[in-house]
Amino acid sequence: MIYYSLNKKSTSTEFPEAVVRGIAPDRGLYFPEKIHRLPSSFFENIENMSIPEIAFNVIEPFVKGSIPEKELRNIIEETLDFDFPVVPITDQIATLELFQGPTLAFKDVGARFMARCLGYFNKKNNAQKVTVLVATSGDTGGAVANGFLGVPGIEVVILYPKGKVSKVQEQQLTTLGENITALEVNGVFDDCQDMVKTAFLDESITNNKQLTSANSINVARWLPQMFYYFIAYRTLKKQNKSLVFSVPSGNFGNICAGLMAREIGLPIDHFVASTNINDVVPEYLQTGIYTPKKSSPTLSNAMDVGDPSNFIRILKIFENDFDLLKETLSGYCFTDADTREALKEIHEISGYVADPHGAVGYLGLKKHLKKHPDKYGIFLETAHPVKFLDTVEETLDLKVEIPDRLKETLSKTKNSISIKDYEDLKAFLLS
Ligand SMILES: *Cc1c(COP(=O)(O)O)cnc(C)c1O
Repeated sequence: MIYYSLNKKSTSTEFPEAVVRGIAPDRGLYFPEKIHRLPSSFFENIENMSIPEIAFNVIEPFVKGSIPEKELRNIIEETLDFDFPVVPITDQIATLELFQGPTLAFKDVGARFMARCLGYFNKKNNAQKVTVLVATSGDTGGAVANGFLGVPGIEVVILYPKGKVSKVQEQQLTTLGENITALEVNGVFDDCQDMVKTAFLDESITNNKQLTSANSINVARWLPQMFYYFIAYRTLKKQNKSLVFSVPSGNFGNICAGLMAREIGLPIDHFVASTNINDVVPEYLQTGIYTPKKSSPTLSNAMDVGDPSNFIRILKIFENDFDLLKETLSGYCFTDADTREALKEIHEISGYVADPHGAVGYLGLKKHLKKHPDKYGIFLETAHPVKFLDTVEETLDLKVEIPDRLKETLSKTKNSISIKDYEDLKAFLLS
């Protein structure tokens, strides 16, 4: 499969180079040249297929020619070795739990898939060491650190905003050691992201190091997120209803993968982009005008993004047709007060303990279903509530049980390097 840059100035390339580069030399995001459609027989038979078998069919055309079948099946088996339960909340709403992986957030799937692809390319080519440079607003860091831990030939450097990620998140990205380094930045997420972007453009660094990103701009992190929607469909198909997915969105990688899943044939009626007050996309859907802003901190901090990278891919999927886009995608934003109310409401009606991101997803879904009472809605639970322990316990007045896989992480010693500006980052990368 050939990938081209959405800025259309760089030359097109195959999947491995798109993964190693992360972003094209002209700063554009990579996009697949062809989008295949799965045959109707695939959907007729989907409930009889295993999750890895479904995933293989979904992703194989996107990596064709770059990863042999046996290797790809291995990568998928290892990536998806945990559960993806669909939990009913009301008779019209369910949640898809994406947090059963090692770092309790949905980003585990993309990070693990990408790490294994890079590991495979590296082994095959005996290539130069690759440095994965990533800015995180919370969950990316932990998932990437965990996914890449111990992968030979790969160095991981993670920038995170000091005091802006939860205790659990910080522990997950600062305690692993080995090939993982955490840099604590005196600033907000956008500062971290700007520094990473600057480093990718800085020839004094890129002449010395092969840098790549592990944010959802990377095709190997973005595309495997399509699996979630197929997994939910497999469970919900028998309901025989129009399905709506509400996706708590920040950088819009996850929802953009959902829209790709629909492009390759998955019968999804509608998507809702649910955001916190960082509402650039809901505002765009209202007005047709896209205005990036500085991000504001919220309770759902993994969505505190003021200029979502994947928005450009969404426009591409709809060939910039605003009316067509609005038929398939709605967007709503919610405050922290709304989020707390939603946590309480979900708990009251079903006993379910959501996290602040899932709660935002629930709110967006409810808004859409109010106008479309005949549809069935799924909101994605993108993180385990324990990752936002203080907010959840305080709002619901209960204790969240800490999963065993987290207890060990919480007991480890934090190890990070403080930096304040780009010069510090550069000095670190060149040291
Ligand atoms: C990253 C993240 C999101 C936002 O996902 P995007 O793909 O960036 O839109 C939502 N919830 C949680 C818990 C996350 O970690």
